[in-house]
Order: sequence, then C-alpha cells, then structure tokens
Amino acid sequence: MAALADPKNTIEVLNRYHIVFQKKYGQNFLIDSHVIDKIISAAELTGEDTVIEIGPGIGTLTQYLCEHAGKVIAVEIDRSLIPILENDTLSAYDNVRIINDDIMKLDIDELIRVENNGKPVKIVANLPYYITTPIVMGLLEKRLPITSMTVMVQKEVAQRMQAEPGTADYGALSLAVQYYAQPYLAANVPVNCFMPRPKVDSAVIRLTLYEEPSVAVHDEKLLFSIIRASFNQRRKTLVNGICNYAGLNISRERIVKALGELKLSETVRGETLSLKTFAQLTDILSKDS
Ligand code: SAM
Repeated sequence: MAALADPKNTIEVLNRYHIVFQKKYGQNFLIDSHVIDKIISAAELTGEDTVIEIGPGIGTLTQYLCEHAGKVIAVEIDRSLIPILENDTLSAYDNVRIINDDIMKLDIDELIRVENNGKPVKIVANLPYYITTPIVMGLLEKRLPITSMTVMVQKEVAQRMQAEPGTADYGALSLAVQYYAQPYLAANVPVNCFMPRPKVDSAVIRLTLYEEPSVAVHDEKLLFSIIRASFNQRRKTLVNGICNYAGLNISRERIVKALGELKLSETVRGETLSLKTFAQLTDILSKDS
C-alpha cells in the first residue's frame, strides 16, 4: 500500500478508479506530507486516542491517523470512495472503521458511545469547506465528549475563529468558538498542497474544548442573540444593533442603562467587547427583563 501523501500515488489511485472530483462534496485531497505531519503533530495524538475523521476522501490523512492513533473512525459521504478505502488504501490497517454517512445527519453522541464506550475522542479532518461552520459549531454546541478538534479550514475562517476583540476578523464566529474552546492556529497551507487546488488559502486550526464554557452566563440563548445582533450591522453601535434586532425586544433605555452599569459608552461598538463583557451585559439584561 503506497503513501497517498506522495502526489504520484494519489494520481495513480485517481486514474485506477476513474475518480471524478465531486465539487458538491468539497473534494480537495491533500498531496503534501509536510502538511499532514503538521496536522498530526497539532492533534497531539497518542496510541490511546480514538479519532473521528470527517471526510477521509481516498484516505490520505487517514493513513497517518491510523499510524498515530489507537483507533480511527472515518465518516465519508461519497459512497463511491468506500470500496477504495476498504479494499485498497486503508486495507493494511485493522484499527480503522469506515462509515458511509453524512456527518451532518449522523448521531455522533451515539457513535462515540458505540465505538468508544462514550469516552472522549479527538476530531481530525481536512474539512469540506461548503459546510465548515455548521460542522464545527454543531459539534461544539452539542457538548459531545470531544477533547479537541484539529481541522483544515479556509484561512479566513481560521482567522475569524481565533480573532481577538478590536481586530477586523473579530465577530460572532470568534465569540461562539471561544465560548467553547481555545483556538490555536497550527499552520497556514497554500493551495498547491491540494488536488485539485482550492480557490482560497487554507489553515490548520486546533480547538481545545473547555470542560465548561469559558464564561458563565445565566441565559446562553440570550447571549448568542445579543452577539448576533451586535455584529448584524457592523458599522452600527451596539445599542442600535440590539434594539433594531427582530425578536430581541429590548428597549434602547435598558441597553444604555446596562452599558452604564458596565462603565461603557452608549456609542460603543460590538467589535470592542470581550466575551466576558458580552456575558455581563447579557446577565444585566436578563435580570431586569
Ligand atoms: N481527508 C481527505 C484529504 O485530506 O485528502 C479529503 C478531504 S476533502 C477536503 C473533504 C472530504 O469530505 C471529501 O472526501 C468529501 O467527500 C467529504 N465530505 C463532504 N461532505 C461530507 C459530509 N457531509 N459528511 C461526510 N463527509 C463529507
């Protein structure tokens, strides 16, 4: 079995099985062993780890995961790739389980219970970019037994996930991710490391999940509504963003009063507030509702 991280071997497999890249599934296969080494080292895998890989493709990253982890569960939506993985590229490994399913529809809690006795797993993936955010946020919000997620995403998505207050990339995604996890940007990855080449640069980001969310707040749903409202129209002040947001129904006076309690100006903009301040603002607003 040849290592697929060598482009010659990838091309050979693609030709042998007449594989046509499925654009609708975001298929951009890795062909650079240095990038895969960086993913493996960022994931800090040991032989004790069980890994869920989302979208193994033809098994390029999976081969490395099988070498470094105790067990690998690979979930691939494209049925035509399953026999290639089972009978060829991963056939040398007895620690891999290949599942043909859509990660968005799969009951991952149940999968972890059945395949790993409910014990925590690590997620490692070169994600399909058309559903990066729903996959990552879905896994975070469900509070599953996951210790970390080391994923290849579009570079600008990685920058937004790890952005700090006051920067151009800071927004609702930064706050949502950082509520659940600590981000670490492990590598920037240029387009020539993939086949076919994607249109945008990529990056590997590791999210280490907190046992409890990074800030305490009484009404989590309200926190995320306020965050969404604050970034809905970027150039607006926080007060205008929140009081114009459909469904929130919080008066201007209440918001100005709450900002006053936090010693913040009524012209403050959402992009300058930390997650902790958003949580404090939410607690004040939920108290006197
Ligand atoms: N891991 C391989 C690699 O690094 O070369 C392939 C990565 S490719 C960017 C994304 C993979 O995810 C493709 O194999 C694609 O078919 C698969 N995929 C796309 N949508 C999926 C979904 N909803 N559930 C599971 N797999 C999916």
